[in-house]
Amino acid sequence: MTGQQASEPRPHMLSPSAWNRYETCPRMYWLSRQGLPRKAGMAASLGTAVHASVEDLLLHDISHIKDAESGWMPSFAEGVLKTRWEEEKAIFHATPRRPQWKEDKWKEAIRNQRGAIMMLLDHVGVRSLEQERITGALWRRIQKLAIAVEGELKTSDGRLMGRLDLLMGDVNEEGELVGWLVADLKTGRTPETALKTDVNRQLRMYRDILLANNPSAPNVRTEGWYTQNASKWAAHGDNVLEQAYAAWQATVPTPLPMEPTIGDSSCGGFCDWKAWCPHWWNWRKDNGTLHKSDFSDAVVLLQEYDSATGSAVLELCEPADANGRAMPTGVRQSARFDNRGKEALDEVLATGHQGALFLGSIMTQARAWRIGHWCDVLPWSPMPDGVEYHRVEQGG
Ligand code: SF4
Repeated sequence: MTGQQASEPRPHMLSPSAWNRYETCPRMYWLSRQGLPRKAGMAASLGTAVHASVEDLLLHDISHIKDAESGWMPSFAEGVLKTRWEEEKAIFHATPRRPQWKEDKWKEAIRNQRGAIMMLLDHVGVRSLEQERITGALWRRIQKLAIAVEGELKTSDGRLMGRLDLLMGDVNEEGELVGWLVADLKTGRTPETALKTDVNRQLRMYRDILLANNPSAPNVRTEGWYTQNASKWAAHGDNVLEQAYAAWQATVPTPLPMEPTIGDSSCGGFCDWKAWCPHWWNWRKDNGTLHKSDFSDAVVLLQEYDSATGSAVLELCEPADANGRAMPTGVRQSARFDNRGKEALDEVLATGHQGALFLGSIMTQARAWRIGHWCDVLPWSPMPDGVEYHRVEQGG
């Protein structure tokens, strides 16, 4: 990667998720574009399967179902979800950096899909209709109101983009089209009082790209559709395109690593790129929280390892400098690698790696640390500040 000159970089495009990542920590955003191994996750796979199944429900030809026929929806819905579920499972297992697939989440996927169907029924005023009672005529009506399903939204200059889940027609009691609804399906946690700032901004970005591309559009409203409890949350607020273009400018790829935003809400939260970032480590060392929480990240040397049982002795390291050079401390810690955690270690060792390891989210309460299926096990390869990296841009 280092030193490889990009030949024809893809034009820079900004999506709401990349924008959010940049807002959380520019270094996180920068690392996410360096072609580093991406992490698969059960929640993301479940979400993708549910999204794709709803897309299928809205796009499949159901002309063989008679207008008054009912009772077909539950098996139809489960069938399309199962197909998408199996697709996602295959992608998940083909991703080297992955936790464990949880088949018992299937029930949750069904529940989320039901939530999405309920919200579609709500859109035509029959929210509490049991799904067994959905008729061919009713579902065709809902299908007709879906103007776009899983469409790519892009500004005419190609700089801002997003994936639109659903663009539905809003109709009045006479059946006349009175507006458009941009609905984004969310399988994550439902908001308590209002949409989170980043989701609100994402929805407004979709709305505003749509309006910019369709100057004669009818009234456009936008909602997050939370499938866990079938609740709809409207996003309101000013046009965000000016801010989005400023973010586009700020996120133009650079060979030098972007600035880190170090702290609890960034490094202490969800960051997939710690194995390549020296900053969380120095921050934890300096504020005395290194290895202190129940789920800790660590940089270690593997001193002993029994590949039959997964038991190991680790030597804890501390940062020797701002670039994250690992300094062994002489402190030994017993540990047990199991399940996907053990497989991941075996995979790293099979590559011939001998240096320090990054272990993410180790369970540290017991005498022996536990590195299980939820953990990251990666070579420790921090990318220092001030060193240029050149790679062919891959978007994201
Ligand atoms: S570890 Fe912290 S500073 Fe580094 S990329 Fe992640 S959030 Fe940013």
